[in-house]
This record gives sequence, C-alpha cells and structure tokens, in this order.
Amino acid sequence: MKRSKFLQLTSFASAFIVNPLIWPQSTKVKIEQLMGLNQSHLNAQNTLENQTYIAYLSLKDAAKKAGIDLKIVSAYRSFQDQKRIFETKFKRNKSKGLSDAENIKNIINYSTIPGTSRHHWGTDFDIIDANVKKPKGDLLLEKHYHGNGVYCKLFEWMQENASKYGFKLVYTNNFHRKGFKYEPWHYSYQPVAKTFFSIQQSNEFRSKWNQLQFVGKSNITSKILNNYFNEHLRDINPSLK
Ligand SMILES: [Zn+2]
Repeated sequence: MKRSKFLQLTSFASAFIVNPLIWPQSTKVKIEQLMGLNQSHLNAQNTLENQTYIAYLSLKDAAKKAGIDLKIVSAYRSFQDQKRIFETKFKRNKSKGLSDAENIKNIINYSTIPGTSRHHWGTDFDIIDANVKKPKGDLLLEKHYHGNGVYCKLFEWMQENASKYGFKLVYTNNFHRKGFKYEPWHYSYQPVAKTFFSIQQSNEFRSKWNQLQFVGKSNITSKILNNYFNEHLRDINPSLK
C-alpha cells in the first residue's frame, strides 16, 4: 500500500476512535442502556461508557500533571442500584408517616427516579481528588469544593480545564435553575451525553419507562412525572441539551 494511502486510512481510523463527535451518529443506543438495564455500551470495568472512558483517561492524565489525582466515587449505576436507593427511601419516609405525594417529593429532592438517572448512561460521574486527605463524613458536600474546602483545587482546575476534554458540570450553581440541587462534583461527557439526553426526552423512552416496576411507582402521578421531567431532568447546564 502506498504510504500516503496508508496515512489517510490510519488517520481516518484514529479519528474514528478518538473523535467523539463522529460517534453518536454511528452508534445505535438502546433505551434499555439509558435505563440501566443493559451494559453493552460500557467499558470492560462497567464503570463508564466507552467513549467517555477514553476521554476521562486524557482528563485524568492532564489533572495528574497539575498535582490532582482524579478519583471517581460514583460512575455507572444500574437500574437495580437506583431501585434499591429509591425503595429504601420510600419505605423509610412511609414509616415516618409522610403522605404518598410528600414521600415522592422528598425523595426526588436528592435522588433520581429509577430508570431516569444520568448515572445509568455511563457518561456521568462524581469525582474527588485522591491526593488530599479525605474529610470526615460525606465527601460530596458543596463546602468541600469551595472556599477552604479540600476539593477546592480540584474544582478550580476542572472549571478551567474540564471543557477542553468534553466534560461539563450538570447541576450548575444557577439561582434560577430548578430540580436537582447544585452538585460541584458531578460531570458529564457532553459529546455522548447530549445524544443520550435527547433520547431520554423522547416519547419512546417515556413509554418504555412506563413498563418498569419498583415500589412506590404507583404514587408517581403523571403530574409529578411531567414536573420531574421538566424541572429535574431538563433544567440542567444548557450546554448538555
Ligand atoms: Zn452524580
């Protein structure tokens, strides 16, 4: 093979592997994957979606040069994982005497409804810096990422550099934003997540979600569900839509 032809082919092949912008159109994503029921889009460790994983390795490498040891504390979560979280909270709230509507409202302040978590996608993760001493108690608190917080350096570095690798904060610190509270630790891989987001908003997704089963689901009225889709799932960083 002529060298020029070989170079053309190899550069095409490497562009196909590393350029995430080509990827979404060429892959058929299954709704089951976006609901945490199918893991075939994930890397070998079942932690991140394949393209997200490649981009994450570059991000991690760059952070390392800045003295930050990126560590994911939560990445992929299956439907069963989210179901367990939701049902535990539902039962606990019920035993405290909360009405069904209050119960659901209370849960979705902090947790997602099973089947709708961005953590099902493999494009989203929560991070800390393993180079600093872990604070006592809950790691994922706003105060750790701001001011004198231990993860302040990590947060500032991510603010400056994450976008260069395709990563965006999902639940931004915007006063006007509704839905999930500000999460300075939760990032998403934009080139793939944007496509996943549009699928999650489709009627087909909603009708498949309607077939899922978990404790407390019958208390999620269509009004609650519509509000949840509008405020919790859609009111995110605009660059991810
Ligand atoms: Zn998260």
